Amino acid sequence: MLGEETQAAVTPSEGTSPKCADVIVIGAGVAGLVCARQLLRAGLQVLVLEKSAGLGGRMATRRVEHAGQTVPVDHGAQYLTADSDGFHRWVKELLGLGLLTEWTRSLYVLDREGLRPEDPNDEKPRYVCPQGMTTLAKHLAAPLSVHTQARVVSLKPLVTAWQLKAENGQCYEAAALVATIPAPQLLPLLREGIPLADNLLSLLGSAQYQPCLAVLAGYSENIPPPPWKGIKCLEDPMLAWLGLDSSKRLQPLSPVVVLHGGAEWSSLYLEASPPELEKAGRELLAHAAQRLDPWLASPQWMQVHRWRYALPLETTGLASLSTRIPAAEGLPLVCAGDWCAGGRIEGAWLSGHDAAKTLLEMLSGK
Ligand SMILES: Cc1cc2nc3c(=O)[nH]c(=O)nc-3n(C[C@H](O)[C@H](O)[C@H](O)COP(=O)(O)OP(=O)(O)OC[C@H]3O[C@@H](n4cnc5c(N)ncnc54)[C@H](O)[C@@H]3O)c2cc1C
Repeated sequence: MLGEETQAAVTPSEGTSPKCADVIVIGAGVAGLVCARQLLRAGLQVLVLEKSAGLGGRMATRRVEHAGQTVPVDHGAQYLTADSDGFHRWVKELLGLGLLTEWTRSLYVLDREGLRPEDPNDEKPRYVCPQGMTTLAKHLAAPLSVHTQARVVSLKPLVTAWQLKAENGQCYEAAALVATIPAPQLLPLLREGIPLADNLLSLLGSAQYQPCLAVLAGYSENIPPPPWKGIKCLEDPMLAWLGLDSSKRLQPLSPVVVLHGGAEWSSLYLEASPPELEKAGRELLAHAAQRLDPWLASPQWMQVHRWRYALPLETTGLASLSTRIPAAEGLPLVCAGDWCAGGRIEGAWLSGHDAAKTLLEMLSGK
């Protein structure tokens, strides 16, 4: 068993001798990291496998280099809100550590009638990380053992252990498995010869996501600061969100804007080539300029990111899903993520917590 210790994320070298742990958690998004921390705290040896080079999943930050400066830009989750007591307590802890700050209580709305501040009765604080949203993932991962660039491509229940294979050829074994990846990505891994209850398969099969094309754009410092920090775009065929990302940072920066395309419009670009994505990005900027302010059409730099599984359309209503594999001495499997408990950072966090609690109960034979 491991105690809490600081371990950097590592990329495993190629090899076939299996790496073993008590529990393997697939996915280093909020749900996976929160779950792994709880399991580690309970004294289990936990290994997190993550397909990307970075941590945080959709709580994502890009470091954009421009004119000799590196600027963090949040291209996934823009901010977080806290409704439940447990998550609120965590938010307070992060505020105390200076990892999180309150960003705004008043978003703007852009609809057919134009641009206006949101309902003043909606006083909900929105929180952000001044260094970028991935700061939270790095904080969560600090005591964990995480293998990055380790995309899990197969899962096999042996008699007493799960056997996992990563794309780079590395094998892993663990007595219990927690999968925190979007359901449409998990289903193909579970379908291959694993006997699962029909109700679990149908819950996984019914989870659907909407896509989102995110456009990141940087502007000249001569642009006068706009009055808004974030704009929800309603009834717009192309645009869903526009955020002044630079307003989250501590030092004064030239304006950086993040635009999110609407689900229907974004779905047109799921298979688009890089030049087609670039063209789509310019179209979205031109559209925003026409609806809002002409300067938006002329950035100094622009990047486009495609989120195939951005936000779940519905959630299962169960904080996590669990089962035992009957043919393999009841090996535990727990599934979690925002598609279970609510399609936001808070939902993923709650789901990760619930997955850890559920697995600990399964392991203690409750
Ligand atoms: C554009 C956008 C805007 C958003 N805005 C907000 C917002 O403002 N506020 C808010 O609260 N939420 C927002 N969200 C939602 C929020 O980001 C998610 O709900 C939350 O981050 C989901 O966390 P998760 O752990 O469930 O999943 P993920 O973050 O998706 O984590 C899953 C992880 O699993 C990894 N993975 C996938 N397949 C494999 C594999 N085979 N092997 C190994 N690893 C794998 C992925 O790389 C990823 O890191 C937004 C999301 C998007 C995309």
